[in-house]
Amino acid sequence: MTAATVDLALGTEMYDLASRLFPICRSITGDGVRRTLDILSEIVPFQRHELATGTAVLDWEIPSEWNISDAYIADKTGKRIIDFRDSNLHVLNYSTPIRAILPFAELKEHIFTLPEQPDLIPYRTSYYQANWGFCMSHRQLLQLEDIGGDFEVVIDSRLEPGHLTWAEYVHPGATSDEIVLSTHVCHPSLANDNCSGLALLTLFARELRKRKTRFTYRFLVIPGTIGSLTWLSLNQERTASIKAGLVLTGVGDPSARTYKKSRRGTAIIDRAFAHVFRHSTEQGKIIDFIPYGYDERQFCSPGFNLPFGLFQRGQFATYPEYHTSADNLSFISGDRLADSYATIRDALDIIDRDRFLLNLHPKGEPQLGRRGIYTKIGGVADAWRSNLAMLWVLNLSDGTHSLLDIAERAGLPFGIIHAAAEMLEEAALVAPSPEAGRLDPA
Ligand code: ZN
Repeated sequence: MTAATVDLALGTEMYDLASRLFPICRSITGDGVRRTLDILSEIVPFQRHELATGTAVLDWEIPSEWNISDAYIADKTGKRIIDFRDSNLHVLNYSTPIRAILPFAELKEHIFTLPEQPDLIPYRTSYYQANWGFCMSHRQLLQLEDIGGDFEVVIDSRLEPGHLTWAEYVHPGATSDEIVLSTHVCHPSLANDNCSGLALLTLFARELRKRKTRFTYRFLVIPGTIGSLTWLSLNQERTASIKAGLVLTGVGDPSARTYKKSRRGTAIIDRAFAHVFRHSTEQGKIIDFIPYGYDERQFCSPGFNLPFGLFQRGQFATYPEYHTSADNLSFISGDRLADSYATIRDALDIIDRDRFLLNLHPKGEPQLGRRGIYTKIGGVADAWRSNLAMLWVLNLSDGTHSLLDIAERAGLPFGIIHAAAEMLEEAALVAPSPEAGRLDPA
């Protein structure tokens, strides 16, 4: 593994993909999700899945499918004051249909604003409770109040029996043990949460298609909460083979990286991210598991307790742009997307390459000079550290320490330990231990 290499061209490509997804009005079901998956499937051959309204999934049920074609609030002259075509955040997501002339006092009961952030439109949903509503800036609400009188109120939406839609892509590895990456596809025009995650996950899947990996990688593009519940409900048997999982969302904003640990707290994915953060020049924050956040809540529910962490930049629900119209395309950048991508790739590379080796000459140090190893290292830029790494690998390769254990004990980056191990294996000084494959003792 090489240390985090940030690929800015890739960052631009992720930004462009996020920009393409941004205008689509998505929800937990409906054509917005399908259109989004169509775009992602141009890049990676995702497999589409659907489950019908009314189907039981764990303690839940697939809801009605929601679709919307138009919505507005117009004044007496027919002029649209609030227009869904300007921003799909203007409609309460999953809103029931309405077509009525209403006095301001009555309309006001169905309007959501952020008085503290008077220029921003909030993003609100009402999935499991039938309601209609409009979201707007507080200034727009005051404008409606000024106009007063009656308004024409139209939400041209449909809530009908249909399907929940999601997508999966599986990259087969040398083993059928899996690493799962998951991201949500249910938010409308919000750039960081989560067009950024959709773009990163898809382009990472594209990269893995070209690589040989030890683990099998499963990529999930699912509606938040109900999507992970559905997937878990249908794949309960498969969960035993999941060795690591990552929910990724909000990966393009300017904040420093945040990694939220799995419920287990000591899973290999928790250790891999801690390791990457420790050896990076970029800032990062590790937070303990809490049962609040994104789909890791379902993957880490006690009946599954899967080793799933969450990678994001700004912590959900804490940054001022969160779930508002300020989470737009100027809030994310290719540079931050590229940094998130490199961080995630490096952490997963550690998991993919971590293994147990056995020193074949454990009695005394083997004579390295005779095998030409010092000469090889002489050519390496950071010769002293490579040398030290080699001595650590020889000393701790007793079948009970993995390469990540050794890297942590040595205080050296995994990449240097891994490179030393490869060199020693080539010289037949170490060999795979029978412990190989024993991962994630948690
Ligand atoms: Zn969200």
